[in-house]
Amino acid sequence: MSHPEHEPAAPPPGESFADKAYIPAILRGIRLTVNRFFQKKATVQYPEEGIYDPEASDIAIGVPNPRYRGEHILVKDEQGREKCVACLLCMAACPALCIYIEPEPSPPEWTDRERRPRVFELDMLRCIYCGYCEEACPCDAIRLTPKFYTPTTSRAERVYDKPRLLENNPAAQIPQRPRK
Ligand code: SF4
Ligand code: SF4
Repeated sequence: MSHPEHEPAAPPPGESFADKAYIPAILRGIRLTVNRFFQKKATVQYPEEGIYDPEASDIAIGVPNPRYRGEHILVKDEQGREKCVACLLCMAACPALCIYIEPEPSPPEWTDRERRPRVFELDMLRCIYCGYCEEACPCDAIRLTPKFYTPTTSRAERVYDKPRLLENNPAAQIPQRPRK
């Protein structure tokens, strides 16, 4: 009868020959790959396929994190007017100098404000998506959405004007960022 001290010790977990040869890890990897191969598609052919298509929202990339800071929108009020009162605070707060606003007097029937933006341009190529404009706005009139990019073929198309910013976020397609 041999003394326990003289018996060969069992290899600790991870120290066996199979572990050292990565056999379990390789088998786990092969199993994962085969499972993924037969699973539903997990990628989209962006930009040909839209990632915000509600029909495709069950695929991984179709659900961006709602806290992501992406392209801006100009928010409309309940009457369909821009909420912006052309106070220029966002323009002053922007560290990248990518917002340009020209104010004009608002129509006389708009009794709740004196000014509105005649020109509101935002250069998405210069923007660093810091969110300072959103924080500076006293009217909740500008917001960043989780929409991270719109494919374009020229630099000029990346400068968004007021109509484009007002329509940049069809609510059915792009989730709103949670508000503080
Ligand atoms: S997110 Fe930042 S860089 Fe972009 S427009 Fe707003 S303040 Fe300027
Ligand atoms: S978006 Fe807001 S901060 Fe910028 S000009 Fe309009 S009201 Fe002022």
